Amino acid sequence: MDTKAFKRSLQQSENYHRKGFGHEAEVAGVMQTAYQSSLIQQIRDNNYRLTRGPVTIRLAEAFGFCWGVERAVAIAYETRQHFPTERIWITNEIIHNPSVNQHLRDMEVNFIAVEKGQKNFSVVDAGDVVILPAFGASVQEMQLLNDKGCKIVDTTCPWVSKVWNSVEKHKKKDCTSIIHGKYNHEETVATSSFANKYLVVLNLQEAEYVSNYIINGGDRAEFLAKFSKACSAGFDPDKDLERVGIANQTTMLKSETEQIGKLFERTMMRKFGPDKLNEHFLSFNTICDATQERQDAMLNLVEEELDLMVVIGGFNSSNTTHLQEISIERKIPSYHIDCAERILSGNRIEHKPLGSDLTIAQNWLPEGEIVVGVTSGASTPDKVVEDTIERIFEMKALAIA
Ligand code: SF4
Repeated sequence: MDTKAFKRSLQQSENYHRKGFGHEAEVAGVMQTAYQSSLIQQIRDNNYRLTRGPVTIRLAEAFGFCWGVERAVAIAYETRQHFPTERIWITNEIIHNPSVNQHLRDMEVNFIAVEKGQKNFSVVDAGDVVILPAFGASVQEMQLLNDKGCKIVDTTCPWVSKVWNSVEKHKKKDCTSIIHGKYNHEETVATSSFANKYLVVLNLQEAEYVSNYIINGGDRAEFLAKFSKACSAGFDPDKDLERVGIANQTTMLKSETEQIGKLFERTMMRKFGPDKLNEHFLSFNTICDATQERQDAMLNLVEEELDLMVVIGGFNSSNTTHLQEISIERKIPSYHIDCAERILSGNRIEHKPLGSDLTIAQNWLPEGEIVVGVTSGASTPDKVVEDTIERIFEMKALAIA
């Protein structure tokens, strides 16, 4: 499929919208009440620090809603204003945040259900409005919705589109796109749908395995089994790794994406020689600023003396998980929660340890004076961060009462 031509024709269609509808003023009030916080502003103005009683909160200097998410949420709200009577659907959570998604449900914006691993688009009719989320949608989904005669409101973040453009460039040069990401993450599924040939690597370890295969060859069957869900149909590691381009899920750990890029650059240089590098390797900077800023702020924060970290964000939000990884690496007790209500009474917290299911930790707030680091992922509104901080203060006050 000529994905470039399809996108071009879609963009010219009168059923396709990728900007707001001029209702910014109407939605500004809702956005402010639902998502902004005066307490957070106060903490920001006070050098990202607030002490109340025995608790000092240290907020990361970059956290929470990124502009891509704020833009997507505002466009979704405007969509409701613009199409007051039409049925409105979203192909997926618009962003990974439970409170935002609940607000949308309250506005009668419906989510396409996933049944047996497949989205059920049979509920969508011609004339319905369908919103594509901030992390995009696959070309096949866009085509299906277009064929059905839906009105498409595309909130895909421009950073994600930038990665898709890189993948188009890989394709033009007959390169396989090596995507640093999670093969089943919606953004990576969408990105891979633009590629002819692709391979998704989760981390540096997987990238090293591929690099080793490129240089030394290896067990083809083992390779195909290892990446069975993470490569394009008919992928042949003996032929399809001669020319590679690097792409990424925008919310992966920046340092790891860079390491993977450098690794493949070195690999292709070793295999084909420095003078042939440009024929075998393509890389463009597609790491999103917001992800980078939040990770850098977290790296600064964990340099300080913290008794514990609270990381707030949806449980399936990649960028939140990566923030959690940073504090775990520094051996700081770290609790990943998605809303303030996870902080239960009696010094208990329901949280999600890295790579495991939700669990309840007891006595998570140490006695005496404490410094609590707080950050949140790119899809978390400030209001949720405020509620969490207030709850920490409240729990600590109860513990010493
Ligand atoms: S994290 Fe980056 S890529 Fe993702 S929506 Fe925000 S600005 Fe866009």
